Amino acid sequence: MKRILVTGGAGFVGSHLCKRLLEDGNEVIALDNFFTGSKQNVIELLQKPYFELIRHDVTMPVFAEVEEIYNLACPASPVHYQYNPIKTVKTSVMGAINLLGLAKRTNAKILQASTSEVYGDPKVHPQEESYWGHVNPIGIRSCYDEGKRVAETLFVNYASQNNVRTKIVRIFNTYGPNMHPNDGRVVSNFIVQALKNQDITVYGTGSQTRSFQYVDDLVEGMIKLMATEDDFTRPVNIGNPGEYSILELAEKIIKLTDSKSKIVYKPLPEDDPMQRCPDISLAKEKLNWEPKIKLEEGLKKTINYFKTTIS
Ligand code: NAD
Ligand code: UDP
Repeated sequence: MKRILVTGGAGFVGSHLCKRLLEDGNEVIALDNFFTGSKQNVIELLQKPYFELIRHDVTMPVFAEVEEIYNLACPASPVHYQYNPIKTVKTSVMGAINLLGLAKRTNAKILQASTSEVYGDPKVHPQEESYWGHVNPIGIRSCYDEGKRVAETLFVNYASQNNVRTKIVRIFNTYGPNMHPNDGRVVSNFIVQALKNQDITVYGTGSQTRSFQYVDDLVEGMIKLMATEDDFTRPVNIGNPGEYSILELAEKIIKLTDSKSKIVYKPLPEDDPMQRCPDISLAKEKLNWEPKIKLEEGLKKTINYFKTTIS
């Protein structure tokens, strides 16, 4: 049994990760400031003797004796990370420094939840890990993109300078149960709108693409990456290479929910990336990982979840 710290453990991805780590026989400490996460996401875990939930902000130092750290604390939806951009930078950067400090003191392995946003609005397609990205450093997405890029820099430097055992996962758009109904991200927005027969809000023409991964596939990839040998510190893309336009996604969700919703077009937010698709060759080779859940199957599970949570 390992003692594992999951920051952002009450969030969407964090709650699934905590559940899986407990099922694998570990002791799990979830740490969260509940900015976008909620106790509800982990309520069923609270009865388990090897689960603890701590209210804490990662911009403040963290003390705990742990063997592994998954650093997920950071709002992920553009609506939420743009609400207080300075706080978003602090969460990524000071959070990384505090957790890396903890990893250094306790000799814990530490994994950073990075993002496909480090590639910005990419000029290389699909995106492989060697691509440096195309990020606007002063745009509305920069608090998140640059914060995550600095966090990667810190991870790489703590590995080389202080021998901390670091891992970096670059996560592509992920969806599933436990997303907040008002999260603002495209899958949850469209499903909630469709279930309520409200207008489906497509930003821009809807020709921009994303690659959508079901959360269980991501959790499997993160656990496999954490288990790699200590000197494997390179970033690894984890995502589903199935690429869809936002309009295609809207149409699929309308069909799967049998909804009467109409598609309406809203302005495209500034710096919204035009396309995104992971090259997952490295994950396949190094982790023997690839996504198993097809978009339609994952959407059905997510739709069922939202049916039970929204009225
Ligand atoms: P989420 O917003 O549901 O979860 C983030 C969690 O972190 C929340 O519970 C929130 O309350 C907590 N948090 C935020 N700031 C904090 C702080 N200062 N101190 C402590 N806790 C804090 O988002 P998610 O989708 O679960 O994303 C989890 C991680 O994965 C994030 O780091 C995100 O950047 C990364 N990621 C997610 C996606 C995706 O599509 N879901 C894609 C790329 C990267
Ligand atoms: N989007 C949309 N309607 C919505 C929410 C999002 O058309 O109600 C678009 C958004 O402009 C972007 C894509 O869907 O092109 C994915 O947005 P999301 O916020 O989920 O993630 P990200 O842009 O960070 O990939």
